[in-house]
Amino acid sequence: MARIVLVIESTENRRLLNSFLSAYHSIGEHEHGEPFEEAFDLCIIDDPNLSRFRTELEARRDAEHPGFLPVLLLTRCQEIWAKVPNLWQLVDESIAMPVAKLELQARVEILLRARRISHELKLRNEDQEAFIQAMSHDLRASVRAVTMFAEAVSVSDGEHLSQDGKQDLERIRWAAQEMRELIDSLLHFSRLGRGEVRYEPLDLRNYIDTCLRNLQGEIRSRHAQIKIKAKNGVVQADPTLLKIALTNLLSNAIKFVPEGTEPNITVTASVKHDLCRIEVDDNGIGISKENQQRIFMPFVRIYSEREFPGIGLGLPSVRKAVELMGGRVGVESEPGQGSRFWIELAA
Ligand code: ADP
Repeated sequence: MARIVLVIESTENRRLLNSFLSAYHSIGEHEHGEPFEEAFDLCIIDDPNLSRFRTELEARRDAEHPGFLPVLLLTRCQEIWAKVPNLWQLVDESIAMPVAKLELQARVEILLRARRISHELKLRNEDQEAFIQAMSHDLRASVRAVTMFAEAVSVSDGEHLSQDGKQDLERIRWAAQEMRELIDSLLHFSRLGRGEVRYEPLDLRNYIDTCLRNLQGEIRSRHAQIKIKAKNGVVQADPTLLKIALTNLLSNAIKFVPEGTEPNITVTASVKHDLCRIEVDDNGIGISKENQQRIFMPFVRIYSEREFPGIGLGLPSVRKAVELMGGRVGVESEPGQGSRFWIELAA
């Protein structure tokens, strides 16, 4: 049962609210002069108490982030949203006094529904995290055992092994190393976006240069040519998430070219009407229409590991990072004609 706390100055109003809402929910009343410490799923507060407990409410809501802890304001002020700047940071809904019962019930139910959904998501995330932790712990232990026994065979019987036996041992070591990398990538992917998304103004040109610097090794070894067409636009983005998105797109553009072809890549970035669009064009192998949606799903790969190494978490990471910032990602491509991957974010 949802817990509603009433932080209302007037004893009579509190009593009326309590008797109406207690038919559906568990109600707590905050007594004047006491510290505000009660746990709740919805706080119904009036104007004087909102000013009084502003700091406490902010702290409570921050502590629940990214969960949703709703606050409903009962106000004597008409057009309060127009009059109080940034009220939305602290309050989710308001009702002008005197309160109409049906309106109160509707708003309470909507806010509690949002609270329930956010709580369910939090529990699911916690379950998922616990599952991934346990799974990666057990898998790591198994991989360690495989590596250890391969090592033991090599030390005790290495000299007596046939050439085929030695090769098999090498394959076991290689497969174990692959498995370790797969576990690390999975953990990394599942944790992506667990922290708060923090926006800051990023100069597009500088930022693309920074991402390219991290790929210097790949760029040199593949003799990739990279052109940047970016006016000095600024985007509001989370630097870590944007870096994950751009680095993966650029790294794929360098990787997915036919053998013997030098990657030729153009990065275009522009800001128009509050929308930032970044495009990465390559001269690679291209992607057929039927695969263009699938490749953003985890572990979807079109080619074998031998043709193009990878595990299929690059584009899903791009999508997760961009969507966490409220943006979109897509691709335009023809097989054999190169690809254009694009990202759109609010500028
Ligand atoms: P990975 O790079 O590990 O294979 P990704 O999730 O980054 O995984 O990409 C998924 C698949 O999408 C790739 O295996 C490849 O088939 C296709 N792909 C991604 N980027 C490109 C590109 N620039 N050109 C052609 N195909 C691409």
